[in-house]
Parts: sequence; C-alpha cells; structure tokens
Amino acid sequence: MTGRFAPSPTGPLHFGSLVTAVASYIDARTKSGRWLVRMEDIDTPRIVAGSDTDILHTLERFGFEWDGPVLYQSTRLDEYREALDHLRRDGHVYPCSCGRTTTAPCTCTRGPRWRVRFPGDDFTVLRADGIFAYQLAVVVDDAHQGNTDVVRGADLLDSTPRQIHLQKLLGLPSPTYRHVPVVVNEKGEKLSKQTLAPPLDVNAASDLLTSALRFLGQNVPTDTSDLSSLWAWAIAHSQPPEIFLSR
Ligand code: GLU
Repeated sequence: MTGRFAPSPTGPLHFGSLVTAVASYIDARTKSGRWLVRMEDIDTPRIVAGSDTDILHTLERFGFEWDGPVLYQSTRLDEYREALDHLRRDGHVYPCSCGRTTTAPCTCTRGPRWRVRFPGDDFTVLRADGIFAYQLAVVVDDAHQGNTDVVRGADLLDSTPRQIHLQKLLGLPSPTYRHVPVVVNEKGEKLSKQTLAPPLDVNAASDLLTSALRFLGQNVPTDTSDLSSLWAWAIAHSQPPEIFLSR
C-alpha cells in the first residue's frame, strides 16, 4: 500500500493542507504502507520560488516522515509527453482553440490546447500555454510512484472520475480514492492562498496537529500534547474509515 501527499509549491502550507496531509499519512501508517511526497511544480506561472523547500521544512517540523526522495513533476515532462502521444495515437484527444471556460464537447479541429473526450464534459490535458494539465500529470505520476491509496480534499471530487478515465485510456491501474472534508474560513471559503489562509506556524505544530486530528473526527485525549505522542496516538487509535466519514 502506498499513499502520497502532493502539494503545489504556490505558497506555504495552511491548515487545510495539514488536514489532507495528516489524513493520508495516518491512512498509510495504519496500514504499514509507504507515504510519498510529490511536488506539483509544473504550473510555472503559479509557482512561488522557494516554497517547495518551505513546504518540506514545514512537513518535517510537524513530524512527517516520507519514504524516498520527493518527486518533482518538473522532472517528468518527457513522461507526460509520452502519455499525450499515447492518447493521440489512440484518437482519444483533439486539438482545440476554445475559450478556457468551455467545458462542453467542442468541434474545433485545430488549436494549441489538447482535450480528451469525456462523456458530456471534455477536459484539457495540454493547456494552450503548453503546460501539461494537472489531470494528466497526476495520473502519470500516481502510476509511476505506485500509489495505491489516494486521500485528498473533497474539492478534488470532480477530478477523480476524470483521472480514472485517463487511467483506463492509458492502461494504468486505478488507486482507491478517498476524500476528506475541505476546511473553510468564516465566510465558507476553502482555505487557500487566494482566500489569504495564514501559513502554518511550525512553532505551534502540536496544537495544530491536535486540531487537524480533531477536524478529522478523532477524539484526541487532552493529555497527549507533544508531537511524537500525538502521532503515536493517532497511528494506534485512528480508524481510517472514521476519518473519511466523520463529517
Ligand atoms: N496538487 C494538488 C493540490 O495541491 C493536489 C493533487 C492531488 O492530491 O491529487 O491541490
């Protein structure tokens, strides 16, 4: 069993990222599985220089231990191109020049963007700016890393059927997918850089880890307060199904 956490280095981690990381980490560790980190750094216009090392440092300070080297998507462009060629050869994708927001099947036959046919709602695999789309990169990398159990935020629910579709077209195995509730602010907005979510404070790691576990429905005892006993408790007592169904 292999799980993973796949942050985008577009800024520091926030409480929502912590919840997702904790859920997948506990899932992996309670099943004695491997847990990998992947840096989703191909969307270059959104990348913030140095945030990859900042993210890794934050994970370390929270006590996460990942197995093997961090995989950077920017090193994997040849593999994404191969996957796109595979889809082209099999006639599953078409070039298109529609506006960004168009989601219905389109009839363009030329254009810089490549889209894959998907019942009712075709989606992009190569963007007009030449950047491989998230959906394609994730599918190629989850297979490459041997990820069997994906745990991530419910904001990615719509992506899951698209990724399963791509796996079928590319002849890749499908991991199991589970989604955890999204953390929102007082206005009901998902925590993100856009909604100005505060960065995780590494000096308050044990309090924040406690809050993340509680958010995931875990009944953390009040006398468990240092990082290593929190992790030990979480791994010994968490019932992964509870994590996913707790809200
Ligand atoms: N990089 C994506 C994000 O930060 C997560 C991708 C995934 O878990 O599949 O939202």
